[in-house]
Amino acid sequence: MERNTRQRTAILGSIENAGRPLSPAEIHDIARADAPALGLATVYRNIKMLIEDGRIREVSLPGEPPRYEVAHLGHHHHFKCRLCGRVFDIAECGTDWNAIAPAGFAVEAHDVTLFGVCAQCAGTAGAGVAAPHRHDDHGHH
Ligand SMILES: [Zn+2]
Ligand SMILES: [Zn+2]
Repeated sequence: MERNTRQRTAILGSIENAGRPLSPAEIHDIARADAPALGLATVYRNIKMLIEDGRIREVSLPGEPPRYEVAHLGHHHHFKCRLCGRVFDIAECGTDWNAIAPAGFAVEAHDVTLFGVCAQCAGTAGAGVAAPHRHDDHGHH
């Protein structure tokens, strides 16, 4: 029971501290620093419980396996880096969607994801951008 609590705290902590949506594999990588015996199956099980408890929510990008972020965040969008595969939060949403919808249409919701290259992958990390800590590029040369 004590071990389960510690693992769950490590999993929730990794998501809370990331500041961006994490895949189960990323959660596993980060949470293992606090809970070395943590297995990927346990990560999936705890993700399910944390969703049921309303602590985290799923982030679905088209054609991608789900990632997870804390549930209390306000309206925002995401940016996916095509090089490292990480997804980042975008705070701004300044577009007037009603203005670009066809005349007479009423926009009720929108779903926007930006794709491109993050500052770290573009080699401009440190140029005023708060880059996340270095993450090993598994499988890249
Ligand atoms: Zn990147
Ligand atoms: Zn928006």
